[in-house]
Amino acid sequence: MSLVFTPAPAVTVPVAGGGTYPVHRIYCVGRNYAEHAIEMGGSGREPPFFFLKPTDAVVAVPAGETGKIDYPSLTKNLHHEIELVVALGVGGRDIRAADAVRHIWGYAVGLDMTRRDLQNDMKKQGRPWCIGKGFEQSAPIGPIVPIASTGELTTGAISLSVNGQVRQNADLKDLIWNVNETIEHLSAAWTLQPGDLIYSGTPAGVAAVVSGDVMEGRVAGLPMLRVAVR
Ligand code: MN
Repeated sequence: MSLVFTPAPAVTVPVAGGGTYPVHRIYCVGRNYAEHAIEMGGSGREPPFFFLKPTDAVVAVPAGETGKIDYPSLTKNLHHEIELVVALGVGGRDIRAADAVRHIWGYAVGLDMTRRDLQNDMKKQGRPWCIGKGFEQSAPIGPIVPIASTGELTTGAISLSVNGQVRQNADLKDLIWNVNETIEHLSAAWTLQPGDLIYSGTPAGVAAVVSGDVMEGRVAGLPMLRVAVR
C-alpha cells in the first residue's frame, strides 16, 4: 500500500551535546504553582489536571539561537507561560512517584503559549480548551539536557523576561505537584511512552506578548530559551 501523501517529518528536539529527541506526545499540567493557580481563579489546592498539545506545536530552538513564532490567529491576548519540560525516556502505566525518576530522560525549558482570551471563553462555556492551548507554534522548547548531566531537577530558579523585563520568577520547589507526582498521576490516565514531553506548569506572572517582543526563559541548569514573536 502506498501512502497517499508524503507524511510530515518526525517532530524532534535537539539534545544538548548532540543528537535529537523524537517527540511522541505533549502533556501539560494546569495550575501547578500556587500563586499562578490563584491568579487563574483557583484555590491553589486542587488535584492536578492535564491537557495535551499536538506534537507539531513544537518549535525547537537550538542552543544560542532565537526561535521565532508567528502571532497566532483569532486572539488579542497571547500569553507566555514559562515551564520546566520533562522528557521521558521510558514509558509505563501506573508509575509510582517513588519510581518515576527512572522514566525521565532529560529536561528542557519550554513555553506554553496560550490564547488566553479564547481559553477563557471556552472555560466559561464549559467547553474544551484546545483552541486556547493546542495551536501551531504554541510549544517552543530549548535543547533537552540529559538527566545524566543535570541530575534530578527539584529546585532552582525558573524565570521569564520579556524585552529584558522580568515577568515570571519562581523556584521549581514551589511546584504544587512535583515532577514525580505528576508522572504518577499522568500514568494513571495514559500509557506513557518514550518521547512524551511533560510541560510541568507555570508560575505566577503570566501576561501578554505582542509582535516584536522577545521572550527569554530560564531554568537553573538548562540552556536559556529565547523566542521572538513575529
Ligand atoms: Mn501551562
